[in-house]
Amino acid sequence: HELRWNPLIRQWIIVAAHRAVRPWRLTDKERVSCPFCPGAPELKDLASWDVVVLPNKYPALVPHPGSPAQYGSPLYVSREARGVSEVIVETPMHEGDFHTLTLSHVSKVMKVFKEEFEKLSRLEYIEYVALFRNKGREIGVSLSHPHSQVYALPFIPPRVASELESFKEYYGKHGRCLICDVVSHEQAVRERTVYENEGFMIILPYYAMWPYELHVYPKKHVKAISELSEEDLKLLADAIRVATATYSRLLKKDAPYIMVMHNHPSKGDYHYHFHIEFYQPYRDPEKLKYAAGIEWGYWVFTYDGVPEERVKELRKACDEILEVIGD
Ligand code: UDP
Ligand code: ZN
Ligand code: ZN
Ligand code: FE
Repeated sequence: HELRWNPLIRQWIIVAAHRAVRPWRLTDKERVSCPFCPGAPELKDLASWDVVVLPNKYPALVPHPGSPAQYGSPLYVSREARGVSEVIVETPMHEGDFHTLTLSHVSKVMKVFKEEFEKLSRLEYIEYVALFRNKGREIGVSLSHPHSQVYALPFIPPRVASELESFKEYYGKHGRCLICDVVSHEQAVRERTVYENEGFMIILPYYAMWPYELHVYPKKHVKAISELSEEDLKLLADAIRVATATYSRLLKKDAPYIMVMHNHPSKGDYHYHFHIEFYQPYRDPEKLKYAAGIEWGYWVFTYDGVPEERVKELRKACDEILEVIGD
């Protein structure tokens, strides 16, 4: 395990040789041996469970990595990949998504997310807890059993670092929080809102990079999931179920997506507003949108369509599912 510094773009790369051998898409025959289904070796000792945190068997980061081999040239910098990689298995059922689980079950998942954030943030060597969920073959998921992943990192990831800079600059100029202002604006104009409950709103942002990108913003100013009460977590669970149900209705199938939690870093005190972002790989129900040359090679995104128009498709799908989603 090591972190290698890319001096061209000044970012850490996690080098994890042994991850190459992790299982890839179980065939139907192998499914009986799904590592996240009840009865799997790692779960044997548990009599019954509904949500469970497991160490990642093929971890990208570990608590005691040992020193990386030094290459011997000042050109090439490395450091130890010290961190924690875990898997959160969200249900004993092999298929499903947030919206196929009950509201109280998803609230429990949110509670586990919160506990993970708190537990890992306390570790002295952790700077950032990255908690995310990959779903669907389209985005390369290796195991379909519903699960999220946690990478507790010894550095603040670049995308979050960039957001921290933006919050700081915005606060310096206006004396207010950037996302609090976006929330007030969207509540006033209601041009990009897909859904809203007492605690959270789901919008397709003005500044979306993916055609069906969704952001879940807490209406009150909280920096991290750790500040959410039991009641708040239930409202968050509701918003998340609505988001995933909306995607599946929109695409008329079990929809893929990437969900990322953007929490405040584990150390320090920054201007920040907790939120969740969903990236959707489809640009319409038939076509995938790939991040390719302009996106990967230059970090420039093109948006197919206009968010204020696209949001109507999501709003329609959302209104349809609200009639049937239940508790
Ligand atoms: N994994 C595990 N135990 C196993 C098999 C797999 O912890 O018995 C991990 C694996 O290392 C991977 C995760 O489960 O990180 C499944 O992740 P996912 O399919 O979301 O995406 P991946 O990390 O493979 O890109
Ligand atoms: Zn399974
Ligand atoms: Zn705020
Ligand atoms: Fe963000």
